Parts: sequence; structure tokens; C-alpha cells
Amino acid sequence: MGLLYTRMKIFHFSEKLDSLRRESELILPPVNVRIKPTNACNHNCSYCAYRVDHLQLGKDMVRKDFIPRDKMLEIVDDLAEMGVRAVTFSGGGDPFCYPYLQDTVERLAETKIRFAALTNGSRLTGRLAELFSLHATWIRISMDGWDDESYTRYRGCPGGEFSRILANMEAFRKYGGNCYLGVCIVVDKGNCSHIYDLIKRLHEAGVDSVKLSPCIVSNSGAENNMYHEQIFTVVKEQTARAVNELEGNKFEIFDSYHTQLATFSKSHHWCPYLQISPVIGADLNVYSCHDKAYNLGEGVLGSLKDMRFKEFWFSDKSRFFSIDPASVCNHHCVVDSSNLQILEYLDADPDHLDFV
Ligand code: SF4
Repeated sequence: MGLLYTRMKIFHFSEKLDSLRRESELILPPVNVRIKPTNACNHNCSYCAYRVDHLQLGKDMVRKDFIPRDKMLEIVDDLAEMGVRAVTFSGGGDPFCYPYLQDTVERLAETKIRFAALTNGSRLTGRLAELFSLHATWIRISMDGWDDESYTRYRGCPGGEFSRILANMEAFRKYGGNCYLGVCIVVDKGNCSHIYDLIKRLHEAGVDSVKLSPCIVSNSGAENNMYHEQIFTVVKEQTARAVNELEGNKFEIFDSYHTQLATFSKSHHWCPYLQISPVIGADLNVYSCHDKAYNLGEGVLGSLKDMRFKEFWFSDKSRFFSIDPASVCNHHCVVDSSNLQILEYLDADPDHLDFV
């Protein structure tokens, strides 16, 4: 299997890259659209950036919002017609709490669009699990607790949920599809000394990969760094042990724990990635990205309430330059390093390109 998390994927879409500039008259469809079908969730994670008040992410989220069924099917039809390559379902809430997810996925499965989902895994059961197993490219389940007691403490969910989700993962394997099953462990001070145990248990459950990511605890990069520096060594020791003992034979560990401990300040004045992977929220707003979703003051590119997505996307290129990251994105940005690479690519002097 090739690299899954490489930032180089976008460089396989050279025509799209060259269309990004303001000066280009071309508008090409996004490569990947992230859809937040509902803001409802059956868990209540203590660190959830969409629910806590001190993080900018999701600050204007309305929990009862969801995309009406007909609008969702219209969006899927538009994405297929536009030639969008992939759809990722995520929260807001948990996509598997969306009442029309089955209809949506059945419609998607009739198109060429590849799709994936981020979920807590508690509703990865029955027909939906089968559909994802047979038609989705990947699914990633977020976890934090390492046993029933700790898991319930993190998430305010019913007892026994950790065991149920592991059982869901084991059952998911039995549908026989090719969907890649991953888990993202959100690392914080509470679970840092249980990382090895949790990875081992997930390996036993038959997942394909485990990704380690730092819990975002502040809008400030310095405060995040300070928080994670205190547990960095213990996390690295346990990750190294898991890699030594468990990795290989179709089980992979992606250590993203270090890569996100960076400064959050930005100096670029436009964002290439918002034309590559925008977000459609449950409130029918189109947002620049995951990190600006449900930020009405800074992240909205427009609304689909009275417009189809395909009309919206191709109607006005200037909206893609309405956000100045140097002014309003000095917080966590999941694609920051990709943006910097793309900006450097686009800034290369055309008169000197041949002198590689
Ligand atoms: S710079 Fe990052 S946080 Fe800002 S709009 Fe672009 S992707 Fe979102």
C-alpha cells in the first residue's frame, strides 16, 4: 500500500493547482468536499472543539441543524456532475446520526465519487456498515479512552460503549468489502500513558491503521505546545513500542503527534486549499475548511439555501479570495503545510522553471 497521509496528493492534480490563482480565469471543481450532514451527536466528548467554548472551531454551530434529505441528494447529484473526486463525511455531529445517511450513501454509490467518513463508530452497524464496507474507501473512528470506564468518562456516553465499538469494528471486517478501517487516537494527558495498550487492543480488533493526533486544547499554538511537551516523551516511548511490536502485516501506525505541534501564525494572504477541499455545513453554508466551519464571521464562502452547489461554485471566483489567513487564521489549520507547499509551487518564477 502507498502513502495514505502524504501532503503530496494534491500534486497529482496539476491542472487544478494551476487554476487556483486569482489571475486564472478557470474555475475547476473542488477535488474533495467535506460534508457535515448533521450537528447532532450521541457522544459528548469533553474536548470536542465543536462543543467547548474556548476554541474558535464551531463557535457558531447550532446543534439541531442538519441538511434536508432532498438538498443532500441535490448536492450529491451536483458533485457527480461537476466531477468532484471524493466526499468526506464528518462533524459537527456524528455523520452516522444523520437520518438520511443511508439514502445519501446509496446515491453516492451510483456515482464515480469516492467517499469516506469520520465517526465515533457507535452506529457503524447493520445496513450502513455494510454499505460503507462495500462502497466507501475509508472510515476513521476517533477514540480516546482505553477501556469502558475511561471511554465513558471522556464521552459522557452509556457504559460499555468502548466494548460495543470494538465489536462494531470486528463485525465490520466480516462484510468483506475493501473499506480501509482506521482509528484516530486523540492524545491528551488523560490517556498518554495508555497509548500502547489502546493500540494493541485496536490491532486485535482488526483495524488497518491507527493514527495518533494531539488533542487541540487552545487557539494558541504556544499553549498547545506547552501542554503536549509535558507528555511528549511518554507518548513517543509508547508509540515506539507499539511500532516495534505490532506494525507490519497490514497494520500501520501513523504518528502525527509531532507534526501538528507547530506555530499557528500565518503570513500568507490567500488560501489555496479552500478551492481544493471546502466544507458544506449542516446549516447549508459553504465554509473554507474544517478549521473555519461554523465560524460565521470568518469562514463562510456563501450559502446553498437558495442556490445549488454547482451554481454557487462556478459563479464568482472572487469569493475564494475573501479570506486572508494572515489576519483571521492564526489558529490550528490542518492543511497549513500543504498550503505553504502549494503557494511556493505557484510562486515559482516561470522564467526559471527549466533550471530544475
Ligand atoms: S488557511 Fe487554513 S484555517 Fe484558514 S481558511 Fe485556509 S485552510 Fe482554513
